[in-house]
Amino acid sequence: MIKVDLSTLVHARPGEREVVVIDLDEFSLDDLEFKFLKGELSFTRVADGILAEGALHTAIRVKCTRCLTPVDQPVTLKLEDIINFPGADRTPERPVRVTGDGWADLSPLIREYAWVNLPVSPICSPDCKGICPRCGKNINLGECTCSEEEEIDPRWEALRELLPEEEQ
Ligand SMILES: [Zn+2]
Ligand SMILES: [Zn+2]
Repeated sequence: MIKVDLSTLVHARPGEREVVVIDLDEFSLDDLEFKFLKGELSFTRVADGILAEGALHTAIRVKCTRCLTPVDQPVTLKLEDIINFPGADRTPERPVRVTGDGWADLSPLIREYAWVNLPVSPICSPDCKGICPRCGKNINLGECTCSEEEEIDPRWEALRELLPEEEQ
């Protein structure tokens, strides 16, 4: 839960603004593991809700798509969203609303922005060598022996002997 107290803004005049500092340690939202979440959000009372704006910085635990090692992928989440007043319907465009006690849980927005901003194929480093397709060893940790001893299936070897000399 990423909760902010918007109780005074709900009753404020349009145009009034508050800045909230976000500084959270490790937490998870469903399937995403956030290592931290930091930044400043400004909340402005507008006619039909509260406009949240600002950039939050985080690192999300993902697996390198080449070598499968867990890496913390830095991600910036740029918010510009209207938070609904209590009682308003939640819609896909406005998934967050202030609850009766004046707090709003920003988790649905954070989760959505995280997904949109995560790279499709994260890698641990631009020169990651990946894993050996044959033995599954992480080649970043050292070459495996597969490439040296090119294995030949003994059944193919037997067939080869049946072929005429020029086709070998
Ligand atoms: Zn990698
Ligand atoms: Zn190998």
